[in-house]
Amino acid sequence: MQKQYEHIIIGAGHNGLVAAAYLAGQGKKVLVFERRSVVGGKVVTESFGDDFIVDSVQTGGTLRPDIIKDLKLPLRAERSRRQSRSDKPAFVSLQPDGNHLTLDAESIKRFSERDAARWPEFVRFMDKAAYLLDVAYSTIMPRLGALPRLPKNLSIKEGYGLFELGLELRLAGRRDMLHFIRALPMTAQELLEEYFESEIVKAAIASVAIHGSTLGPMEAGTGYTLIHNWMNRGGLSLTPSASPDGRGESEVRGIGEITQALANAVKSLGGEIRTETEVERILLTAR
Ligand SMILES: Cc1cc2nc3c(=O)[nH]c(=O)nc-3n(C[C@H](O)[C@H](O)[C@H](O)COP(=O)(O)OP(=O)(O)OC[C@H]3O[C@@H](n4cnc5c(N)ncnc54)[C@H](O)[C@@H]3O)c2cc1C
Repeated sequence: MQKQYEHIIIGAGHNGLVAAAYLAGQGKKVLVFERRSVVGGKVVTESFGDDFIVDSVQTGGTLRPDIIKDLKLPLRAERSRRQSRSDKPAFVSLQPDGNHLTLDAESIKRFSERDAARWPEFVRFMDKAAYLLDVAYSTIMPRLGALPRLPKNLSIKEGYGLFELGLELRLAGRRDMLHFIRALPMTAQELLEEYFESEIVKAAIASVAIHGSTLGPMEAGTGYTLIHNWMNRGGLSLTPSASPDGRGESEVRGIGEITQALANAVKSLGGEIRTETEVERILLTAR
């Protein structure tokens, strides 16, 4: 008899694997189809020939610490949600005169004493804003009905996440809450001009906002991308993992270790993954 599944996921990229693992964890019968011979989608560590093994993506988004915890992945969260991102400058900004800037007060002082004095307050706000964004990303939003009506059977449980998000915003304090809401649609330039005077300092921080996008720092919404990328500083491939015996910690061997850990979680929770299986058609039947 043909095996029955409650959920079929097409593609074993990290998103498909996370979804599959959570569903399998809830006791659902899950099957993942992957057309390639390896799982991981774009997050893989692969060899393109002898002795040449590369990560498909460089540091980017961080794997959420709550996913690591929920799925008991043998990976250690790179940081806690509230930990400052300022302790690891992401880059060095090289200047034409041979000088350079890193993102810390000491280095900033060489370009502007005033900016160096304002740096801690900027970091404090950005850490808080990144935390609020992190909370927003993990909030399951209630269903939207055909506006202006609310969806039928909207339960208190469904709206609870939104309530919690509102509470977190309010607990951030009136000043930070308003500044956060204001900053999201702003340009990175406008936001940075509220803090800094040095063009070199502003340009270096603004580059965080436009990393990985085709936007420029004078485009609306780069206030949001600045906070988003601030949240992600550290990146996936820096996530250290537990050593195989579960004791101590070692560096991840490659970014693909993350999707391997996810695939293992799917299987250990009872889910199934079929590689080299391309979905060609989805047949829909009316019930
Ligand atoms: C060029 C490029 C560079 C990027 N660089 C970075 C970076 O440096 N850092 C970063 O954080 N993010 C980066 N990203 C973004 C990141 O890779 C994606 O957001 C992420 O991979 C999306 O994950 P996913 O699981 O949704 O899909 P994918 O990772 O794309 O996985 C989809 C999977 O589905 C499979 N599939 C597709 N169709 C079928 C089918 N019909 N049947 C069976 N299987 C199928 C594919 O083989 C694949 O394994 C980059 C993206 C691109 C395009």
